[in-house]
Amino acid sequence: MPDREATSCLVGWEGYRIETVERRAGEQPAVWIYLGRPSCSPMICDGCGQASERVHDIEMRVVRDLPILDAATWISVPRRRVLCGQCGPRLERLDWLERHARVTRRLAESVVRLCRALPVKQVAAFFGLDWHTVKEIDKRALQRSLDPVDLSGISVLAMDEFAIQRGHRYATVVIEPHTRRVLWVGRERSREGIRPFFDLLGEEGCRCIKAVAMDMNAAYANEVRARCPQAEIVYDLFHVVAKYGHDVIDRVRVDEANRLRDDKKARKVIKTARWLLLRNRENLKRVQDGVHLDELLAANQALMTVYVMKDELKQLWRQPSTQAARTAWQAWFDKAIASGIDPLVRFAGKLAVYLQGIVASAAWPLNTSILEGINNRIKVIKRMAYGYRDDAYFFLKIRAAFPGVPR
Ligand SMILES: [Zn+2]
Repeated sequence: MPDREATSCLVGWEGYRIETVERRAGEQPAVWIYLGRPSCSPMICDGCGQASERVHDIEMRVVRDLPILDAATWISVPRRRVLCGQCGPRLERLDWLERHARVTRRLAESVVRLCRALPVKQVAAFFGLDWHTVKEIDKRALQRSLDPVDLSGISVLAMDEFAIQRGHRYATVVIEPHTRRVLWVGRERSREGIRPFFDLLGEEGCRCIKAVAMDMNAAYANEVRARCPQAEIVYDLFHVVAKYGHDVIDRVRVDEANRLRDDKKARKVIKTARWLLLRNRENLKRVQDGVHLDELLAANQALMTVYVMKDELKQLWRQPSTQAARTAWQAWFDKAIASGIDPLVRFAGKLAVYLQGIVASAAWPLNTSILEGINNRIKVIKRMAYGYRDDAYFFLKIRAAFPGVPR
């Protein structure tokens, strides 16, 4: 029967044939396809993969498939259980439908492809599926595709924290900075929280670690010193500069705005110009809200000083040797103290404690944009994949986003 062959070749529900098709009109049209299982076709046991001839029982299943033209497609499938000589009653193995799946394999594959680019919610809306179903499909696919991480031959690490659930909880990501490969993601940012990573790395692996880049986080540093005492701790430029922006630039801006409370125009200039200060020098020539940079800088000498000092601070991470870095640090520190600007003086004092980890960056010049890049990417993944309070899924998405690139 050529028609039937053409249809079955097109739709690919191997082993089945279409008994009836029903189209239900409505706002979202649906097609219901009732499949039949010819009794002559051979059956494979899903447990052992052996051919089996005896049917134990048949149950009806309704699963979703890819839409047909404009219609959401439902198929009704008589699912057989074979009575296998080895395994007992087992489902019949089908290439196009997994054991307990609610969607066909090809629909699952389409969901996974779309989940790489779109939030779960949008993918669910696109296919007319429940978000939970979509998330579980994507999660299972990630679990299958991500191999256990190979931690051999690793000598440098970078670790960073990120917020989950609007900063109520934190997690830690550990990467190999040269290949940008995520090695591990775990809950918490405490010493205990990151301990499982070092357990996984093992004693031998811990001995091979030469440097670890991180935020100025005492918990990380303490755990690294305990587990990898030979490793150099390197503080990351991205975090130090972010802290500088928060502790110094923001503080000076607020102080100055308060000081200029009675001078309305000057106050407005300071208040609206925060973004200018946090941008790089190249962007500073632009105009925002009629406020020019030179006007802003003229409005306040202290702001100009802390802005220039931020640029100079960054230079500490670009020194050819640790000796040069120490010299540059001393010059920066002296200037900071001499400025007499309170927040800057305080910051310099606090930073001095971390000096060793800052000058170490000269010996371990890690591309500091890596942690910043990963941090930003995690925020995007969180928006796309989270909101479902499934840490395991969220962490899998992070690992999948940074599989590593060849050096
Ligand atoms: Zn079997």
